[in-house]
Amino acid sequence: MSTPDSMPVSNAGAIAHTGSYYAASANDKVQRSALNGDTTADVCIVGAGYTGLSSALHLAEQGFKVTVLEGSRIGFGASGRNGGQIVHSYSRDIDFIERHYGQDTAEAMGSMAFEGGQIIRRFVGKYGINCDLKDGGIFAACNDNQMKELESKKALWERYGHTELELLSEAGIENHVGSNRYVGGLLDKSGGHFHPLNLVLGEAAALESLGGTIHEGSRVVDIQQGDKAKVITAKGSVTADYVIIAGNAYMEGLIPKLEQRAMPCGTQVITTEPLSKQMQQELLPHDQCVEDCNYLLDYFRLSGDGRLIYGGGVTYGAREPDRIEQIIRPKLLKTFPQLDKVKVDYAWTGNFLLTLMRLPQFGRLGNSVYYAQGYSGHGVASSHLAGRVIAEAIRGQAERFDAFTGLPQPVFPGGRLFRVPLTAMGAWYYNLRDQLGF
Ligand SMILES: Cc1cc2nc3c(=O)[nH]c(=O)nc-3n(C[C@H](O)[C@H](O)[C@H](O)COP(=O)(O)OP(=O)(O)OC[C@H]3O[C@@H](n4cnc5c(N)ncnc54)[C@H](O)[C@@H]3O)c2cc1C
Repeated sequence: MSTPDSMPVSNAGAIAHTGSYYAASANDKVQRSALNGDTTADVCIVGAGYTGLSSALHLAEQGFKVTVLEGSRIGFGASGRNGGQIVHSYSRDIDFIERHYGQDTAEAMGSMAFEGGQIIRRFVGKYGINCDLKDGGIFAACNDNQMKELESKKALWERYGHTELELLSEAGIENHVGSNRYVGGLLDKSGGHFHPLNLVLGEAAALESLGGTIHEGSRVVDIQQGDKAKVITAKGSVTADYVIIAGNAYMEGLIPKLEQRAMPCGTQVITTEPLSKQMQQELLPHDQCVEDCNYLLDYFRLSGDGRLIYGGGVTYGAREPDRIEQIIRPKLLKTFPQLDKVKVDYAWTGNFLLTLMRLPQFGRLGNSVYYAQGYSGHGVASSHLAGRVIAEAIRGQAERFDAFTGLPQPVFPGGRLFRVPLTAMGAWYYNLRDQLGF
């Protein structure tokens, strides 16, 4: 059945990674067995992305017996396909939280807003994960208004204790990015980038080294709550004291109540052939990652083997590599016209999960089922934070988890079919805003 052009693409249920550069350069291609039969665990986790595996690793480090059920492959979802950029704070920044939810909530969430990157670095260091991790992320301003917003962001983040920041003038950013598109930027020295699939695969191996279990090809079809929860797949079940739902944009009907509160959005990425050392040096001399400040933002970086990985926008329905290249290549050439002859080796699409408030949704369903979802495009760091605070809550220290559960989680207006055009309309509006620079 073909997907209408207005729908985000999903091939949930497939048991192969999408045809990305990351899948082609994955460190670990061994497929874990599917769940077969009935078993028990302290905690059963639905989904082997960063939310699921960060929760799993934090819990296993504390001695919990953890089983992760992944419908497809480890990192099949956004965690194995993303831009690989550590972006701090939340998709809506802490000043929005201050204005709408008060200073106490802002203090609580602000104090956690820079933790995700530290968790990633801790996992990489402690478990020796080979994922080409590099330091330094740049927010690039396309116009003077965006530059003013970056100045405010720096002041805001410094108020919350994050000081590894440097404003870049127009001349300054040219020393970091070989493009004349930008009027300045903000360098976050503790931002950074990495091979996202190799990170999640490394986290999976770390979990297994601590005695945790992961089953691939094991889509959860039902969760029965009772004294203990029973998590059911086509060929087996896990009975557990706690369940963590970490399916994000790929759940497709498991928990309609959660899915009504967010909207899967497709975003596309292309990867060039390896560039000459001279060209790498010209484009990104300090090997940092970059995202611009548009609402429909472009993001790019070099891979470990010197390719340019370039993603951008939110496009519904684009799924064929040729079509994806057609959409993203003009964006890449607008930033780097010097690459007009470059060959694109890989093109793919992935879904992130957008919430109406663009803030993540954490919560409980009953006493023993926890969830975290909806990082709204900035989930690499926040999903790692989610894993830590869910693990804390399960251990009985729920203050930090509950700072998130207090935020409203409004349902997207209309049903699933209406949500797509509505968000597409929003994307159209923001695109216009980006073009006109207001
Ligand atoms: C193309 C792209 C680029 C991005 N770039 C960045 C970036 O550079 N920086 C950034 O901060 N964020 C980025 N993001 C967002 C970020 O990748 C996500 O927010 C984050 O990876 C979400 O992790 P997750 O574990 O919650 O979900 P996912 O990684 O999507 O994992 C969910 C997993 O659950 C499984 N699952 C779902 N339902 C079931 C079920 N019923 N049974 C069993 N398993 C199930 C899925 O198969 C999937 O593997 C990007 C996203 C995309 C798509």
